Amino acid sequence: MSDFHDDRTAWLRCYRCWSQNLEIQIHYDAIRRVDPQTGALAEGVDEVQESVVQCLDCMHDQPHLTFEDDHVAPIDERWPRMVAGTPWVASCTVQIDADRVESCSGPEAAEYLTYGAFGDAGVREFFTHVRFHKHDEEQIVVHLLVELYARSAQEATEVLEEAAEGVLEITSLAEESRPPAHASGEAH
Ligand SMILES: [Zn+2]
Repeated sequence: MSDFHDDRTAWLRCYRCWSQNLEIQIHYDAIRRVDPQTGALAEGVDEVQESVVQCLDCMHDQPHLTFEDDHVAPIDERWPRMVAGTPWVASCTVQIDADRVESCSGPEAAEYLTYGAFGDAGVREFFTHVRFHKHDEEQIVVHLLVELYARSAQEATEVLEEAAEGVLEITSLAEESRPPAHASGEAH
């Protein structure tokens, strides 16, 4: 990957299959004052509530890309690692304060436990599978399988450590092979 330069062609692509066939979903949430004479909406700034860039070839979200003003921009601390990296699968536990988890039962329990364990990276960047969790007085120990992209085992460990919202213990970490690159112009 040494020919990856810090220019648009390097980061403006799917981190998994390297396709440049991307689209973005933007959800706006805006509040405007109403002019009492005309009913027109007063000036106001639309606030971007949420935006997700997606690859049209492999349909995965692109957490190394964000939306700024009117264009897609890279997240500097994520894109070189994700685009040039390989998937790593970690089996790990994170011990967190129980009040970090809104609910540990019901259909959204896995997402709450993932968010409690790894915050935004857990729900946006990593692929996580919560195997089970255990209560220990005011603490919860979450047992997870995590897939993340990194350029080395050391980098994968650092990313997990940085994202963990509590005491992290990695019991195994294995490199997986990269999904096949999308060939440009290939018919689907
Ligand atoms: Zn893709």
